[in-house]
Amino acid sequence: MINIAIDGPSGAGKSTIAKTISKKLNIMYLDTGAMYRAVALYALENGADLSDSEAIGELLNNIDLTFIDNGTENAVCINGRDVSKEIRRHEISKSASEVSKLSKVRDFLVEMQRKIAAENDVVLDGRDITSNVLPNAKYKFYLTATAEERARRRCSELKEKGQDVDYQKVLQDIVDRDYNDMNRQIAPLVKTEDSIEIDSTSLAQEQVADLILTHIKEIDGKSVCPVNTAVARLQDKEIQAVAKKTKRKSIFIRGFAAFVKWVMGGLWHTKIYFKDNFIKNSKAVVICNHYSALDPCVIISRLLGKNGKVMMKNEITKNKFIASVADELGCIPVKRGEADLNAVKKVLSALNHNSQVLIFPEGTRNKNENFKEMLPFKAGVATFALKTKSPVVPMMYYKKTGIFKRNKLVVGEPFWLDEFYAQKPSEVKDVATDYIRAKMVDLRKEVDLLVEKCKGSKKKYLKYKRLQSKELYENANNRSQE
Ligand code: C5P
Repeated sequence: MINIAIDGPSGAGKSTIAKTISKKLNIMYLDTGAMYRAVALYALENGADLSDSEAIGELLNNIDLTFIDNGTENAVCINGRDVSKEIRRHEISKSASEVSKLSKVRDFLVEMQRKIAAENDVVLDGRDITSNVLPNAKYKFYLTATAEERARRRCSELKEKGQDVDYQKVLQDIVDRDYNDMNRQIAPLVKTEDSIEIDSTSLAQEQVADLILTHIKEIDGKSVCPVNTAVARLQDKEIQAVAKKTKRKSIFIRGFAAFVKWVMGGLWHTKIYFKDNFIKNSKAVVICNHYSALDPCVIISRLLGKNGKVMMKNEITKNKFIASVADELGCIPVKRGEADLNAVKKVLSALNHNSQVLIFPEGTRNKNENFKEMLPFKAGVATFALKTKSPVVPMMYYKKTGIFKRNKLVVGEPFWLDEFYAQKPSEVKDVATDYIRAKMVDLRKEVDLLVEKCKGSKKKYLKYKRLQSKELYENANNRSQE
């Protein structure tokens, strides 16, 4: 059976996205939150105390829950009565969160959910699907968004329905429900290690659904799986095009690309410092100095995720074989000296699909020893980071001449351009570019300290930094006492 499990906090868009996916794959959708809501409604109607486990347990003996998935709506019936509308009332959200803490309720509903999943191809959304209901599901996703964005979406939904809403109250409700769901004793909401996390804060719902479908296709690519047949039914042209392209690429090219990655990642003599600063599993514009043709290979193979991309001059695409290998390695060829809209679109789409994109902000190779003199930065990095609200991760490649000297790659702290978000990217791209360049200058100073003063010893560097901040603190203290 095809079981797609989606978890996440309230208002992250799970149900709309799960519905879209179920329609595209032509499989069933099960809204498990609706089940907890139905139990809460039934308990309230019967005057039960929502925290009284015994009383609610008794009620469960009399409740016959059914689901009708008619392709457009997921109707929920209690003892034959359609309660789909009633369970959406605001107070039921809170009550559902209350009854969901009870083990009797959870056992009752989890058993039903597992049965449905064992008998049907189904997309399930909820809070404990990936961790508890179907821990062995093949497709597991964790969908999230900031509490503010979720509250904003909820407010516009309620406004559309003609209801009066107070943003602060909605936000507080969301924060409270998150707390309840994440901190309850039984089956709390968690992101399991094997779930793919998608932050939908700056994504449209269609994009999130596409992203999930693309991941499903990728997971399928690794093994033979029944979803292949379902994916073939997809209406979405873009996804079909991606699927066809992947198929066409020969095993030889894929194997050669994997070999290049392996050789470059393993043999190219590079020590990476502060790898933890690298943002994994999330979109990021990664910037670095570009000394030789080999440094992007190290970054691609050792840091970027499997969906990582790198902007490269389009001359590499002249030879068909190299072009295919480069494509497999995630290269986005860009025509230099002109506005290459096609490349721009590809970079924006990759970032919107949570990939990391490596860009050389100087736009070309700089043979100047270890970035001592930076060339002017192109405005592309700022534009991409502003348009997609992506973090920028600065890196510096430090070369050592001499055969046995180890090269160094230092990963700086990521930063966001949020102080410019209020303005149009086209209006602030130049100031934002200066800001990015200043960050690179700072990183270069840190690299000098690490490599030259501390002889590449991370321990010495950290000790030096600690002493430096202690000194700054003491100086400030002395000044304030004077
Ligand atoms: O998803 P929805 O907001 O409709 O869910 C209502 C409540 O049901 C949630 O706040 C959560 O407390 C509970 N729930 C749960 N486990 C699930 C689905 C929902 O505890 N799998």
